[in-house]
Amino acid sequence: MSTPLPPRRAERLLALAGDRFDLAVIGGGITGAGVARDAARRGLRVALIEAEDFAAGTSSRSSRLVHGGVRYLEHGYLHLVWESSRERRRLLQHAPHLVRPLQFTWPVYRGARVKRWQLAAALTMYDALAMFRNVGRHRRLTATAVLTQEPLLARDGLLGGATYWDAATDDSRLTLANVLDAAAHGAVVVNHAAVRRLTFGSGNGPVDGVEIQDLLGGATLRVRARLVVSCAGPWTDEITRLEDPNAGPAVRGTKGVHIAVPATRVGNVSAVTMTSPDDGRVMFTLPASGGMTIIGTTDTPTTEHPANVRASRGDVRYLLSACNHFFPDAQLTEEDVVSAWAGIRPLVATGNAGDPSSASREHATQLSRRGVLVATGGKLTTYRAQAQQIVDAAVQRLGGAAKACDTADAALPGARPPASGGDVRLVPELSWREADVDQAVRHEYAESLADVMIRRTFLAFELPDQGRSIATRIAKRMAPQLGWTDAGVTNAVREYSQSLDRIFTITP
Ligand SMILES: Cc1cc2nc3c(=O)[nH]c(=O)nc-3n(C[C@H](O)[C@H](O)[C@H](O)COP(=O)(O)OP(=O)(O)OC[C@H]3O[C@@H](n4cnc5c(N)ncnc54)[C@H](O)[C@@H]3O)c2cc1C
Repeated sequence: MSTPLPPRRAERLLALAGDRFDLAVIGGGITGAGVARDAARRGLRVALIEAEDFAAGTSSRSSRLVHGGVRYLEHGYLHLVWESSRERRRLLQHAPHLVRPLQFTWPVYRGARVKRWQLAAALTMYDALAMFRNVGRHRRLTATAVLTQEPLLARDGLLGGATYWDAATDDSRLTLANVLDAAAHGAVVVNHAAVRRLTFGSGNGPVDGVEIQDLLGGATLRVRARLVVSCAGPWTDEITRLEDPNAGPAVRGTKGVHIAVPATRVGNVSAVTMTSPDDGRVMFTLPASGGMTIIGTTDTPTTEHPANVRASRGDVRYLLSACNHFFPDAQLTEEDVVSAWAGIRPLVATGNAGDPSSASREHATQLSRRGVLVATGGKLTTYRAQAQQIVDAAVQRLGGAAKACDTADAALPGARPPASGGDVRLVPELSWREADVDQAVRHEYAESLADVMIRRTFLAFELPDQGRSIATRIAKRMAPQLGWTDAGVTNAVREYSQSLDRIFTITP
């Protein structure tokens, strides 16, 4: 492998403790990773600190779409759709290994909430907001044409529909690609290290750094920084309360659940946009890797902690019911569910709790009283633009000396290693290989089985036992590189099992 190895963890922790940074970024989801990348490319000295793993929060629980957001048109968020469409175009161009075009079919049935003429008008606007530069324009479809695209859709009451284009991604690897590029431009990036405290120059002075705990070694370190940026997604209020224990909420969490079922059980050809038979919400049946179809998502207000949020049986039934309504031959039951998981949208708290689906996905940046730049809201799709605005604000706060932002035109790294003839598959039915494990540990900062099996690969999403039966084998492969003894391997497998219980168990 010709790619240079990243500095070892001990060296990176030493650098965190020894240097003074321009920016200390808290949170390695897509927002923090995007900020670290943008800032490092502008020549700033950046530390990126992630408590669990890069993308372990909401950024590995999304619908994996890079999309204009056709459903946001209903609520009049034209700017968001315009910005998202522009970012979709850029990502298709600069990360073709991570973002690929995806064709959607939207069938319209008698009595549907969204009528055919409304759909046609919305999709015309969708194309216009993309400046007619999307990979393809929408087309109106007769009922026969809908069934040519998706032969297993329900026929009763089908009036017609439309087809349009968005894009699919791998959310964890998109995040990782930003981390890798940040590191390639000099950022010091560390996962499994949690910010425990903010530090202050003097009694009432501004924040001048953070105190972190290395969750693998246990040590506590002080990281000095001219500016601290909080990109903690649904954990944002926890970080803000390190500064002001009485601070009100800046984010409002809504929970979104997905389930994966074998694609052969549904029979969808590509992506299908559905309006829920229960409440009319827009949702999707999506093709996914590993022979899976993903059905999602829900959108319900929640106070669950982001580290422990899980799908409930009610969520699963709601998703199965929608899919069965549109694909009546599928007759999916809970037995068909290969995996189920949930994430929390860190929406900007507006004070109006209202309908979660109509809440804005716009992003916001605020400076706290003691000088922490706090990012809220956003979408995977618009992370680059959000990061640009955050770093612009940071540069201004730091006195204005930095190179111009160049991420609009810069390619992203992060491709999987090319398959070579001798590569052994981890399981015969999926394309993940031993080389992916090696790459994850050597080049992609994987430190645990969950890092490898949930976020560097999708093994946990694609195997009915979430990969429990191959966990020891994978741990043994990782062991020499991470210095794990036999006891270390046993411990890694036990921790993996705990992560699975925390993320994939369906609650009653
Ligand atoms: C169900 C669902 C579906 C979605 N689908 C899409 C989609 O298809 N397309 C799209 O564009 N958007 C989608 N989104 C929105 C998108 O996923 C989120 O907006 C985005 O991932 C948020 O990223 P983030 O970095 O802000 O938060 P997160 O990814 O949650 O990152 C925050 C990070 O901060 C870390 N952290 C917390 N506390 C600390 C601490 N003390 N020290 C250090 N680190 C800490 C956490 O471990 C976490 O990794 C979806 C969201 C949901 C919930």
